[in-house]
Amino acid sequence: MAAVDLRGLSKAFGLVKVLHDVSVDIGDGEFAVLLGPSGCGKTTLLRLIAGLETLSDGEIRIGDERIDQLQPGQRGIAMVFQSYALYPHMSVRANLAYGLKNIGTPANVIAQRIDQAATILEIEQLLDRKPHQLSGGQRQRVAIGRAITKSPKVFLFDEPLSNLDAALRARTRVEISKLHQQLGATMIFVTHDQVEAMTMASKIVVMNAGRVEQVGPPLEVYRHPATRFVAAFIGTPQMNFVPVNQTSENGGWLQATLKDGARLDTRIATSAGHASPVELGFRPDEVAVDPDGALKIEVEVVERLGDRTLVYAHLSDGTPIIYQDHSDSQVQRGDRVGLRPHLHKLIGFDGSGKALH
Ligand code: ATP
Repeated sequence: MAAVDLRGLSKAFGLVKVLHDVSVDIGDGEFAVLLGPSGCGKTTLLRLIAGLETLSDGEIRIGDERIDQLQPGQRGIAMVFQSYALYPHMSVRANLAYGLKNIGTPANVIAQRIDQAATILEIEQLLDRKPHQLSGGQRQRVAIGRAITKSPKVFLFDEPLSNLDAALRARTRVEISKLHQQLGATMIFVTHDQVEAMTMASKIVVMNAGRVEQVGPPLEVYRHPATRFVAAFIGTPQMNFVPVNQTSENGGWLQATLKDGARLDTRIATSAGHASPVELGFRPDEVAVDPDGALKIEVEVVERLGDRTLVYAHLSDGTPIIYQDHSDSQVQRGDRVGLRPHLHKLIGFDGSGKALH
């Protein structure tokens, strides 16, 4: 079993605490993505698991074994770095063999593992080349190949796609997902790219300023964000947030009055005893264009993307609103449009940023 259990992890560099009591369970064979903005502590968390940093507090277990006291080489982990970290003077074959040779693996086993990794990654033709004779995408495969040859219990990936162009990134995303299915190994992948997280993860761990904001399957995190931070971070274009001036009750549901007097019904039950929302959120595709809609907006910019139209607008108090219209939309800059957010999709946020569903 290669379940990874992170319990109460904290890390400080000198006086600066960069991780605060992080606890996450990652199941055997799961593809977990650590997602968050730059500087939130994703890489530090990965390096702690790999043993490249020491914990200030907490425990790390793989299966039944506590590993945070072990040397990196004894943890049963292989890490793929953003920079690939290949030895430039060695051939691809020698790069793949290096780590195994160092731990005294017999030559026939090394050859077999290299063959296996080369076949999986389709790099058989590249084994005698040096890294400088490879494209970025090929180098990245070699870096993944080096991890595969170690037959680790757990793979760690530190933003491995960030040096690739957009098209190659999209292809490699799919390849890594296939690799995961093929190997069935536990994988932990760091990124600040929410598309990577949504498409690859079986579990997303959203981090913010050294803390875990939410853990869950991608669609759950997307549809039921626990906080305003998660709601804003996941989804492109971003969720809209409209400030609430006052709330009242309408048939057991909360009704919000906005600054311009517009009233929005919600499906937030007043009986749930929530704090009052200070904002309501809805995604750009969760609205209907309707002259009688409560939100009156003025259009600023129209982006026609072919398959859909994105409209950038604002309410009379200046609150920005983005909504998605169909591809043949005739909307133009300067138009005044009524919008009706889908009742069941509106999320309230209280003053502390907690979501009220
Ligand atoms: P990015 O997406 O930019 O790589 P990240 O989420 O991976 O960011 P980390 O690299 O883990 O973030 O850094 C978290 C915080 O810890 C940052 O404020 C960073 O400056 C700090 N930090 C990281 N490594 C060290 C170090 N060796 N010494 C001191 N501070 C560090």
